[in-house]
Amino acid sequence: MTILEVINKTTPFFEKRGVESPRLTIELLLAHVLQKKRLQLYLEFERVLDEPTLAKLREMVRRRADGEPVQYITGEAEFHGLKFAVDRRVLIPRPETEHLVEAVIARDPKSIVDVCTGSGCIAVTLAKKLPAAEIFATDASAEALAVARANAERNGVEKNVRFFEGDLLSPLPSSTKVDAVVSNPPYIASGDWAKLPKEVRDFEPALALTAGEDGLEIIRRLATTAGRVLSPTGFLALEMGAGQRAAVVEILEANKFVIVEVVKDLQGHERVIVAQPKQ
Ligand code: GLN
Repeated sequence: MTILEVINKTTPFFEKRGVESPRLTIELLLAHVLQKKRLQLYLEFERVLDEPTLAKLREMVRRRADGEPVQYITGEAEFHGLKFAVDRRVLIPRPETEHLVEAVIARDPKSIVDVCTGSGCIAVTLAKKLPAAEIFATDASAEALAVARANAERNGVEKNVRFFEGDLLSPLPSSTKVDAVVSNPPYIASGDWAKLPKEVRDFEPALALTAGEDGLEIIRRLATTAGRVLSPTGFLALEMGAGQRAAVVEILEANKFVIVEVVKDLQGHERVIVAQPKQ
């Protein structure tokens, strides 16, 4: 079978199975198996694929048709122009989180802690963009930290980021003071779990997604503890769920923070909030 025949046969199959962007998906899988850029496939439509390649591809197509996200199948996700290894131990980085990273870069902090680092996408991107900054990253999951460490190495910043296992800020050395506390914490209400797409619900780690009955449990705990590690001129930058702004503002203000910025994502949802300790 040729590349073009594979595309033409798989696209309607994916469509029938409810896979989003069916043609793009098979092209991404082909590009991964053949280790080529997707657009290069267009120059080789008539290339005949051998049986081992087709066997690999069939297995990947089956996984995607069963709902597994493309990024877990290829083991790779792109975030802010960088490549990250991902698997079911970590959340797949989302484009919305790039707004969080940009809000941090714009403030040029010299020291940062990324709480709930997951794949490490935030800490590693910040280390790339702010090479002089001292960066700490924490996660409650040892499995996630293994992925994050590998991603720091893959992107050549393993010397700039120190990883700590434990709950939120608690694993940091006790005297730690930073200019920025950054987090894309779990923020989905437990009752909304069933409403998540199958791709998310059945494959991504629940620990990285849900945060109590109202989805604000982690943000609440972070707001009460961040002051301890923040320098007086420092800031807290958080990602939040669509529609959570009012509740998050209330939590932050109750913990003596002043809101300095709210950033909308490309869908127009207020997604990122930046706050500073009240002087
Ligand atoms: N920091 C990681 C990300 O933004 C993981 C976040 C999480 O696990 N909640 O993708």
